[in-house]
Amino acid sequence: MKELTVISGKGGTGKTSLAASFAMLSGMLGGAVMVDGDVDASDLHLLLKPVILERHEFRSGWQAVIQEKDCVRCGGCLAHCRFEAIRMNGATAGEASFQVDPSACEGCGVCVDHCPVRAMDLVERICGEWFVSNTRFGPMVHARLGAAAENSGKLVSVVREMARNVALAQNRRLIIIDGPPGIGCPVIASIARSDMVLIVTEPTLSGEHDLKRVMELVRRFEIPMAVAINKWDINPAMTEKIERQASSSVRFSARIPCDPMVTRAQVNGQTAMEFSPGPASESIEQIWKNLCQTIKP
Ligand code: SF4
Ligand code: SF4
Repeated sequence: MKELTVISGKGGTGKTSLAASFAMLSGMLGGAVMVDGDVDASDLHLLLKPVILERHEFRSGWQAVIQEKDCVRCGGCLAHCRFEAIRMNGATAGEASFQVDPSACEGCGVCVDHCPVRAMDLVERICGEWFVSNTRFGPMVHARLGAAAENSGKLVSVVREMARNVALAQNRRLIIIDGPPGIGCPVIASIARSDMVLIVTEPTLSGEHDLKRVMELVRRFEIPMAVAINKWDINPAMTEKIERQASSSVRFSARIPCDPMVTRAQVNGQTAMEFSPGPASESIEQIWKNLCQTIKP
């Protein structure tokens, strides 16, 4: 089983469009398992329209809860919480009620230790959900992180692990991960142990800068990488500069031209490959062939 991760130095480079097109092209290999690794701002579902088959809670970390019926309203938890996560509703202890603000609670457990009547517990925090779904191109594992929830890297690891289970169960040889943008924890969780990373960028100053940072990250993991320059023809000189800079580190670099069909396909909720043949879909198909030659799924 091989894993291909598609990432970008920043959002809006066309990464998800490319990953969704690969989902369609993987049909000739018996189909891939798709993963939406951008759990903070997932959008692969907009193109692949998954039908959810399984829904699971994502639990990570701890938070305090007060058992109202046991609380004697002494205010001890309020006094001991240094994260100001206890809210007092009322003027004075003895009369007021106390509540934990989940967004402020760090789960340290100090309040639990100081509660004189054991009215406080630490419970696992529900930080989001993950799903196993079906799409018109095969299975997809994806997730939704709760508002203000942390540990997105851990959630990415969970969905990747579940995708491996699905791939094994359905005898699929390839997992395609639509990774998050940037160089943070969830990106690291998306690329670790991948067989190949495709970095999508645009020929702009910020695209060049972000590409350098993300290439440096992938290099540290010693994972083979390739670069796709989307809308290369908006700045041919910058495209050539990026290609020159990347040439010693990548297996191949490729160009995708501006093509209005890509936007029309997105508006229509389809991949560029499905919507209409055009210069962009031809380039994407060639990139796919190069990727397959490199990782041999
Ligand atoms: S677990 Fe720690 S952070 Fe949360 S309410 Fe108790 S003392 Fe405050
Ligand atoms: S320390 Fe325990 S009993 Fe006192 S207010 Fe907090 S939860 Fe209630």
